[in-house]
Amino acid sequence: MRSVIIGGGVAGCAVAAALRGSNVASESVILERRLPGAPNGMGFILMPNGIQALESIAPEFDWRSAGQTIDHVSLRSRSGAIFAETPIESAVCVSRERFLEMLRAAANQTQFIDGASMAGLDQHADKSTRAVRLQDGSVIEGDVFFACDGARSRTREILFPEAKLSDVAVQEIVSVADAPALARSLGTTFRKFHDEEGGLAVGMLAESATRVVWFMQFDAARWTNVASNPESMQRFMFERIRGWAPEVLEAFHHTDFSMSHLWPTRDLPPMAALAHRNLALVGDAAHACLPFTSQGANGALVDAALLAKLLAESQSAQDINAAFTRYSAIRRPHHQRMFDEGRRLRAQFLAPIGRSAPCIPLVA
Ligand SMILES: Cc1cc2nc3c(=O)[nH]c(=O)nc-3n(C[C@H](O)[C@H](O)[C@H](O)COP(=O)(O)OP(=O)(O)OC[C@H]3O[C@@H](n4cnc5c(N)ncnc54)[C@H](O)[C@@H]3O)c2cc1C
Repeated sequence: MRSVIIGGGVAGCAVAAALRGSNVASESVILERRLPGAPNGMGFILMPNGIQALESIAPEFDWRSAGQTIDHVSLRSRSGAIFAETPIESAVCVSRERFLEMLRAAANQTQFIDGASMAGLDQHADKSTRAVRLQDGSVIEGDVFFACDGARSRTREILFPEAKLSDVAVQEIVSVADAPALARSLGTTFRKFHDEEGGLAVGMLAESATRVVWFMQFDAARWTNVASNPESMQRFMFERIRGWAPEVLEAFHHTDFSMSHLWPTRDLPPMAALAHRNLALVGDAAHACLPFTSQGANGALVDAALLAKLLAESQSAQDINAAFTRYSAIRRPHHQRMFDEGRRLRAQFLAPIGRSAPCIPLVA
């Protein structure tokens, strides 16, 4: 059978790697809108559930050495006073670019078509998907389809028009600083600094011996004039961090804001079904979540590992429909929990810090 994967981000590459050697992917193709070399994001945390999924998707890689181990979280005030320091189950901070290279290498039996933007779907009479139509007019036929086209999935829009992303309540400036001394001082600790008034925080983690991934989260209703250009992001951060801890200033001074990214964070209320006959939604297309859970990439990896298991014996269209129905049923409670946890953590982030320490921005 021929698998067609729409989107070559974390979910798409993980699905391709996970399905290696299976009957449903005796042939497979990834259609990726972006061109090679386009900026590819900063980094994220591989949580224990994501690492476990990777060990089944591509056991030939040592995923724990793909980045920097993170085993503590330190929650601090904006000036650096410690609210709480907590050990966590070992996680790994990875560069998104390097991580995707590894996943692509694991999916090397798949044909990658870069610069291929999905515009529509063609269906059989029974409403199963027959082919993907690309923006340039070409048509890619297949037997099984995986929509891995991210939070603003066009595929979801076509097949599940009722599913709508929520409004933006929190924006995030995501960046990377070339700062070896800061990376050394952070070591294996994820540090997060909080404005006591609520609605403003800076988190940072070492992703290697020299690079620090950092993000500034802010209340989008309070600060409405931050634009997605380097000058605006740099000015906003400069104005906000006066008097903050030295680590925050150090990250700021070692950042090239032309590489920064402004991310309007939006989640997707859990959907009743994640598949439409022979097409399954995977990753953010199925369950975009708020960044407070750190579960975006991890959830996509778990989806891919589960799909490979459920599809392992599939020989026919009926088998595929049945596997996708099981996938929806198994993953829905997880999505509901991530949605609820994301909303709870966001409400806490937006509120002034009371007597208790802020919450750890990770959900296992
Ligand atoms: C460029 C980029 C940078 C990111 N940087 C970070 C980061 O630094 N930290 C972090 O925590 N998260 C980041 N994310 C988000 C994170 O990768 C996802 O939340 C998570 O990994 C889930 O992955 P996904 O594959 O479902 O979605 P995504 O990673 O968003 O991947 C979706 C893919 O589908 C492609 N696509 C979309 N529409 C179409 C279409 N019509 N036709 C063909 N292809 C299409 C996109 O180009 C993208 O490659 C980034 C996402 C992107 C796209």
